[in-house]
Amino acid sequence: MSQQFDVVVIGSGPAGYVAAIRCAQLGLDTACVERWRSESNEPVYGGTCLNVGCIPSKALLDTSHKFYELRRHFADHGITAKQSAIDVAAMMSRKNKVVGQLTKGVAGLFKGNKVTGISGVGTLLGRGRVGVTGADGAQQELRASHVILASGSEPVAIPPAPIDNELIVDSTGALEFDSVPQRLGVIGAGVIGLELGSVWSRLGSQVTILEALEDFLPALDRPMARDALKILTRQGLDIRLGTKVSGSRIDKGKNSSVIVTYEDAEGSKEAVFDKLIVAVGRRPVSQDLADSAAGLAIDGKGLVEVDEFCATNLPDVYAVGDLVRGPMLAHKGMEEGVMVAERLAGKKTQVNYELVPSVIYTHPEIAWAGRTEDEMKQAGVECITGSFAFAASGRALAAHDTDGSVKLVVEKATDRIAGCQIIGAGAADLLQQMVIAMEFSASAEDIALTMFSHPALSEVVHEAALAVHGHAIHKANRKR
Ligand code: FAD
Ligand code: NAD
Repeated sequence: MSQQFDVVVIGSGPAGYVAAIRCAQLGLDTACVERWRSESNEPVYGGTCLNVGCIPSKALLDTSHKFYELRRHFADHGITAKQSAIDVAAMMSRKNKVVGQLTKGVAGLFKGNKVTGISGVGTLLGRGRVGVTGADGAQQELRASHVILASGSEPVAIPPAPIDNELIVDSTGALEFDSVPQRLGVIGAGVIGLELGSVWSRLGSQVTILEALEDFLPALDRPMARDALKILTRQGLDIRLGTKVSGSRIDKGKNSSVIVTYEDAEGSKEAVFDKLIVAVGRRPVSQDLADSAAGLAIDGKGLVEVDEFCATNLPDVYAVGDLVRGPMLAHKGMEEGVMVAERLAGKKTQVNYELVPSVIYTHPEIAWAGRTEDEMKQAGVECITGSFAFAASGRALAAHDTDGSVKLVVEKATDRIAGCQIIGAGAADLLQQMVIAMEFSASAEDIALTMFSHPALSEVVHEAALAVHGHAIHKANRKR
């Protein structure tokens, strides 16, 4: 006889596990099916984010930042070390420990909230029916009043650089190198390319990033993007824009290497690397997720089609996270998981898709939310802006962390903050203040009239708000 639940969730990444926990908190009898498993066949929860995404990448970013600071900046503070070296095995072991702690933490949360974890590959068979194939091939069928699909995403592959998991790797392989490659190539100057490129560059790799687009970080206003490019280039990343990779071949000589062929404005070129990371985007995991007879609507990009409340075309079937439209970000998936759970429990919860914060965890961090000045202009909305540089912040100077600036975009007619972009130390947390402000429809004047602690990096945000109307204190103002 099949097991019966109120809700069955397929996938335990941030979208799926958060949906499952929230459903259970609201009194729904909930199961979560996960195919990722340990050697002992126990399900491993947390999805891409906890296992091979957000968390391990940040663990390596934090380690490599400390090493970089030790080598490049500690002497400015009068701190010298006779010797410094990176122990890659120890760094990886710390990263794996952090990952293990968090994935086990989700298992603990499932237990604490009475979510039934089920190990296996889940398939939507039809309304209220989920098939599960275990590691041993055993099949079972679960019945549920509601099904939430949260199978996430996987790296996109490109024919000119096929992954061999030795010399050519995707983001997962790039979190597992056993030594620092001397020459590291990266295809794609997006979020993963910049974060993982930074990790290995700080540890000593000579990093070359090949990016197809002419524009660097198209989501930012052009002056902010130019500034980010300048800062990252100064740190040692060789970012080549407008390059089209046409092929790659492996040289299995004494020291194996990968030779990449690419075209740029000057013609055809070659570059030789010890490792190559392919980071050209991710695609939804929707193939084989549903039996064809179920009739689940999936678009040409493989995204499950949903409305603004994450309802699919099938009654009582929802889809959340990277599997559906919108940015592929953990927090966006988590909010969708909460929304679906709460709506199943009769609440009117919504997700504000206008305000999804984005952060690239380089140093300095690059963070943005809301609309850019360019987007406001294109939409025909008159706007004013206010900017302030970290170089003029006492706290940034004290910390020797003066790169970057804050830019606020404000609707002229209402003074409401419409967008914020920050390049700078702690940008992720500073941006969050502006996300809260925008969520509450705050005006630039509201922020300008708020008292900020001194000395704190957040004063840069305060000064940017003052600058909107030409009142910044620690800056020569153009407006009066
Ligand atoms: P996933 O996390 O992909 O989880 C899906 C789960 O479903 C997986 O565990 C999978 O095994 C399981 N599954 C799939 N199919 C089945 C099936 N048929 N049956 C059972 N189980 C199944 N985002 C951020 O917001 N911040 C970051 O700093 C960040 N850093 C990242 C760094 C890297 C290197 C990468 C690769 C991604 C990063 N992301 C980051 C993106 C983030 O990881 C994803 O947006 C997020 O994990 C998506 O969550 P999800 O639950 O939709 O899917
Ligand atoms: P991305 O979309 O951020 O960047 C991919 C880059 O590769 C783009 O700049 C694109 O123009 C370029 N590109 C595509 N095809 C190319 C080709 N053939 N040759 C050269 N360049 C090419 O994708 P990503 O960096 O792979 O990250 C995937 C997803 O994971 C993103 O959607 C991101 O939101 C998420 N992620 C988020 C974080 C974070 O929030 N900090 C970190 C890592 C990943």
